[in-house]
Amino acid sequence: MQPRSVYIHVPFCAHRCGYCDFTVIAGKDHLASRYLDALEREMSSIGDRPELETLFLGGGTPTHLAPAELARLMELIQQRFRLSPDCEFSVEANPWGLTDEKLDILADAGVNRLSLGLQSFDAAILETLERDHRRDDILDCVARLRRRFANFAFDLIFAVPGLTLDLWRQTLRTAIELQPQHISTYGLTFEKGTAFWTRRLKGQLEQADDELERDMYATAMDDLAAAGFEQYEISNFAKPGYRCRHNQVYWTGKPFWAFGPGAARYLDHTRSLNHRSVTAWMQKVLAGESALYESETLSPEDQAREALVLGLRRNEGVDRSEFATRTGFTVDGLISDELPRMLRRGLVWDDSARIGLTREGRFIADYVVGQML
Ligand code: SF4
Repeated sequence: MQPRSVYIHVPFCAHRCGYCDFTVIAGKDHLASRYLDALEREMSSIGDRPELETLFLGGGTPTHLAPAELARLMELIQQRFRLSPDCEFSVEANPWGLTDEKLDILADAGVNRLSLGLQSFDAAILETLERDHRRDDILDCVARLRRRFANFAFDLIFAVPGLTLDLWRQTLRTAIELQPQHISTYGLTFEKGTAFWTRRLKGQLEQADDELERDMYATAMDDLAAAGFEQYEISNFAKPGYRCRHNQVYWTGKPFWAFGPGAARYLDHTRSLNHRSVTAWMQKVLAGESALYESETLSPEDQAREALVLGLRRNEGVDRSEFATRTGFTVDGLISDELPRMLRRGLVWDDSARIGLTREGRFIADYVVGQML
């Protein structure tokens, strides 16, 4: 199947936040021009201007690029791809430094969905997360982007040290009042190799306890549903008609291209990952060498198990008959031992046509899907 979707990774950020384990380069803005040269070269490896249904610029902070660099990136995209008339063109952005000039560059290039990494409105929580924006920056930024974009999304983090349940409720309420079309909520994780990981080991940061984290997730599900957001995946909530189409490409096992350091793609049943080091990726691409770090071709059964796990994360769950047609495997054949156990524990629902995670199952989704891989 010819891909109809592209992910482009833009690794630049003002600084690396203590909890971040993404492919990011901070304080090296002078590399942006070389990065764009490499991106142009890497993107030239595909055929002539394929038409896209979804395009996602993630990071890092794509909008950290200077206006001239952002404009060049938009030009490269226009040269390399055709956007279908209803192409969903998303860009991740941070409120800090998102000037009118940058917003105009994005809007003029056809970007029609902005995803803002807000995380919180509270100064102390933003300070803990080492984010450089504050509540007033968010309000100013949303007022300005609303004039150009009808579709914008917020990312919020819960289970941050110091975040109480009341403060989290207030965070959700403020986010809802700003009327985004989409909200993603994530529990803070302490990933090995990050500054937060080290600080937790030294006792300088305390992880929220499981019960509080669970209450915060439950509050997000309840309050967002009450505000008219449908939860369509474990971490994602959208107003009707505003689900992120690009994410659904990932979750339904469709192929997609990906470019940039650390970018992961799925083509011809093969998952492959670029070098995460920005400089190694640039050097290899510009030298005409492969920038692949690793790749794995999935067996038919692995493809089916992956489709099952991705499907379970979606609220619609997995349609038994569609799944069998698509993968050649039956749900019941793949998880004949696990399914009855999960059903008995109330973690999975089963209406004979489909199975999916119950609300209880969503609280420990990683555990449940892990059992099925
Ligand atoms: S702004 Fe986002 S991508 Fe950049 S360092 Fe912070 S968390 Fe990571």
